[in-house]
Amino acid sequence: MPRLPQAGESAGLGALTTFVRTASGADLVLAFEADDTGFATPLAADPPPLPDVFGLPEHGFDRLDWTDSPRPAEGLHLPSAVLLALGRPAERVLFVPTPVPGAPRSGVLLLWAANGARTCICPFRDEIGHAPGLLRQVFGQMLASRREALHRRLNLGLFRDVFDSVPAGIVLIDGGGNNNLVNRRAAELLDLPAGRVEIAQIAARMTALRRACTNAEALEALYAPHQADPNYALVTLWQWGERWLEVDTHPVSGDGRLGRVWLFEDVTQRQHQAADLERAAHFDALTGLVNRHRFHALAAPLLQQAAREGHDLSLLMLDLDHFKAVNDRYGHAAGDRVLRATADRMRAALRARDIAARLGGEEFAALLPGTAPADARLIAERLRAAIAAAPVEVGDAAIAVTVSIGLAGARPGETELAAVLARADEALYAAKRAGRDRVAAAG
Ligand code: GH3
Ligand code: MG
Ligand code: MG
Repeated sequence: MPRLPQAGESAGLGALTTFVRTASGADLVLAFEADDTGFATPLAADPPPLPDVFGLPEHGFDRLDWTDSPRPAEGLHLPSAVLLALGRPAERVLFVPTPVPGAPRSGVLLLWAANGARTCICPFRDEIGHAPGLLRQVFGQMLASRREALHRRLNLGLFRDVFDSVPAGIVLIDGGGNNNLVNRRAAELLDLPAGRVEIAQIAARMTALRRACTNAEALEALYAPHQADPNYALVTLWQWGERWLEVDTHPVSGDGRLGRVWLFEDVTQRQHQAADLERAAHFDALTGLVNRHRFHALAAPLLQQAAREGHDLSLLMLDLDHFKAVNDRYGHAAGDRVLRATADRMRAALRARDIAARLGGEEFAALLPGTAPADARLIAERLRAAIAAAPVEVGDAAIAVTVSIGLAGARPGETELAAVLARADEALYAAKRAGRDRVAAAG
């Protein structure tokens, strides 16, 4: 155990050792704190200086049955640090045990040196009567309160340390309302001083931050119903500029009368990662179109809706012609540019409610809700012609590409997407067989 720092509370112990030495005529009075292993920490000594920490001897003098009278030093195993502090051989010793919780071998040691010349001012050089009892009480109390104070300080220090070093903003609202604490992170976030802050100031800054959020209205709606409930607990996401804050508030120990905790955690990275993952799961990275999986997920309910409401719905399947040759001639990177250009042309040719997808490789699809096959054919033809008419420029090369398109319309009441897709696929291959660069419709 490291030596505890000298606390201000030891000043009282110092005065007491001085008084005891004067009163008893002892040559050394030493108050120390010792745990059960016999590790002793001197707290006050008269005369100074304070001896260094020492170990109580194995068969310690402190374990003897001490009466209220000093006993001869001969035969006692006194710690050498103590004897060193006395500076002369000890003649008589009195130990007053003052056990306290956590330091059961503590006490006050009085030593009289051989041929000690000192005289005492009160009559307890030889017979000190009930003085040790009093000493035991007073020293014991001082020791106990000193330890308590140290622990309080240690606990408070630990609390403050944790409070300020956790990577989250913390605001503690005291139930009594006047001991509110703001940690460093929360202080930065809310533009408040760290430490104790007035409740009105905290409330004003938290409200200001919330109102500055891009999702302020949604947040207002989330918090408003809880205004009157002192026990509410709520976790919300505050979108604040580019940042996302997860804000958790709950009553202390489930009881709002005790106070309220507010935790602010910056989850910007987490939100971005989640958004990235979602994007990766739904979109094709090369073209930005939705991927096959997402296309199915979006198209299936639209087909069902069309069946239910008796609307038209058409599906186009596109496949670039001889695309392998493009890769072979211009390289894969140029091929990618062509794929991107194809996606751009699809976007340009379609309406906002249509869904364009890259199904994989050089295969694309488009779902046209509310569009009859005859109209879809016009759209497909326009798209085909646009692609054929404008070669894709990559560096110095102008890469001419054509596309074959298969078209299928949903049959009345049809709800099976796979069946519509299969017909569009068949039509696509019919277009390929018929010579490519054309649109073919399913029968
Ligand atoms: P067809 O007219 O019969 O469709 O002939 P094709 O060459 O287009 O057909 P095929 O399916 O044989 O070749 C498709 C080519 O598409 C083969 C592959 O190298 C290329 N491809 C698939 N995915 C990508 C991609 O992401 N980037 C590039 N650059 N090429 C791709
Ligand atoms: Mg293909
Ligand atoms: Mg192809």
